[in-house]
Amino acid sequence: MRLVFLGPPGAGKGTQVKMLSKALGVPSMATGDVLRMEVASGSELGREAKSYMDKGELVPDDIVIKIVEKWLRSINIAKGFILDGYPRNVRQARELDEILRQMNVELTAAIYLDVPENEIVRRLSGRLTCRKCGAVYHIEFNPPKEDRKCDVCGSELYQREDDKEDVVRQRFRVYTESTKPVLDYYKDKGKLLVIDGLGSIEEVNKRILKRLQELSSSSK
Ligand code: AMP
Repeated sequence: MRLVFLGPPGAGKGTQVKMLSKALGVPSMATGDVLRMEVASGSELGREAKSYMDKGELVPDDIVIKIVEKWLRSINIAKGFILDGYPRNVRQARELDEILRQMNVELTAAIYLDVPENEIVRRLSGRLTCRKCGAVYHIEFNPPKEDRKCDVCGSELYQREDDKEDVVRQRFRVYTESTKPVLDYYKDKGKLLVIDGLGSIEEVNKRILKRLQELSSSSK
């Protein structure tokens, strides 16, 4: 299966993509993760991307499209893939279709994880990340044993610049504004699957697998 995962930041895409990638045995890639790695490495691309990311704005299309194309050409495309956090606008969606067309394959479906703004703010603004090992906690749902200290490596926990409430609201606004047309784009092509993203990780995962099963049995 060749899938893209859409949904506002904090909808649980990362978690669901990892589970699905394992269940389907296909590779996945998150553009946000690759960009954060570039920022951490201090590369030229990372330096350019950082200024946009810290403000919760989208990184310019040309940078992100190049990252995605390079990755798609590095995997066995016939086996399938999952993209997380891409596309974020219609240009990115069109470019993806074009890259896939050149590779003689087609996208199977676009999965949209639907979660309302207030729930997103609750999830993200309580998130704490370890400065050293990257472990993720949540003040309410998964607190560290000691205040602001990582259970794994003992280092300081901090709130990511883009997890602060005002930036979270900004990211949500940017996301919905630029992604609404992407949803319409996939809807028009009959490829959009909307999944309710509220509930436990397992519940959401079951919902996704059920819809994908229905999809593969209807295409047989
Ligand atoms: P995420 O981890 O998906 O929330 O992404 C974190 C940040 O990386 C976003 O706020 C954007 O600045 C940037 N980013 C990730 N994916 C994309 C994309 N497809 N297009 C543009 N910017 C992106």
